[in-house]
Amino acid sequence: MWKTVAVITICSLFAALAAAGLYTLLGSGPGGSGAPVCFLVVLLLCESVLLVAVLERRAPIFGKIFHRGPAGSGMVALTFDDGPNEPYTSQLLGILERSGIKATFFVIGMNCERFPDALKKIAAAGHEIGNHTFDHEVLPLKRSPEIEMQIRNTSAVIEKITGEWPALFRAPHGWRNPWTNGAVRRAGCKPVAWTLGVWDTDRPGAQVIIARTLKGVRDGCILLLHDGRGIETQADSSQVVQALPAIIEDLKHRGFRFVTVSEMMEHSAG
Ligand SMILES: [Zn+2]
Repeated sequence: MWKTVAVITICSLFAALAAAGLYTLLGSGPGGSGAPVCFLVVLLLCESVLLVAVLERRAPIFGKIFHRGPAGSGMVALTFDDGPNEPYTSQLLGILERSGIKATFFVIGMNCERFPDALKKIAAAGHEIGNHTFDHEVLPLKRSPEIEMQIRNTSAVIEKITGEWPALFRAPHGWRNPWTNGAVRRAGCKPVAWTLGVWDTDRPGAQVIIARTLKGVRDGCILLLHDGRGIETQADSSQVVQALPAIIEDLKHRGFRFVTVSEMMEHSAG
C-alpha cells in the first residue's frame, strides 16, 4: 500500500509543479485574477490524468495495451496470475484437462523457481505461459532498465524450465509507467492486461467468484483469476479451484469458445 501512496505523492508533486508554473504565468499577466482557480483546476487535472495513467490498466496514456478480444467472436480467455503455486496450480490443470480447455498462466519468476515441476506441467499440457515479473514488485516507480531486467530475468527462468521464452507480459496489478511498454517489447514480450477481474484474491467465497464472473463475462473477455497471491508462500487459492468447474460449465453452455490470450490476439489482428 505504501507504494501506491508513494506513486500518488510523486504524481501530486509533478502536478503541483506544473500548476505552480501556470499560476506564475497567469498571475503576472492582465488576467491574473483568475489564476488561483486555474491553479486548482490544473493541479487536479494533472493529478487525475497521471493517476488514471498509472492505475488504470487499460488506459492508453502510457501506450496501447491488449485487454479484450473482438466482439462477436464468441471467444473467452481464462488467465491465472501469480503462480505457480501448489497444490492449486495442479488442481486447476486437472480441471482444465477434464474440460478440454487451454488457458494462459502469467507466472512469477520467484514462484517458478519454487515450483518448477508445476511450470513444466503447465507447458506440457499445452497452456500458454506469460511473464508476470520476477518478484511481483509494482512497476510505476521503476526505471526502464530495471523493468527490462525484471522481465528478462523472469523469461530466462521460464525458458530454462520449459525451453520457451514467453511471448506475453502482464504487469503486477496492471500498473505501468511511460517506460513500461518499451521495456516489455525490448525484452521480447507483448504487454497484456485483462477485461474482467473478480477480486478472487480477497477470498470472497467460491459462490461470489462464480457470480461475479458469470455476471461480468462478455464476448471477447479476458478473465483474470489467480492460482497464487504475489510471492506469498502459503497463498490459499482453493476458492478459485472450487469455482472454476461451475464457471467453465456455464460459459460452455452459453456457447463461448475458450482460447489462449495469444490466440485471441491473432484473431483481433486478423
Ligand atoms: Zn499479480
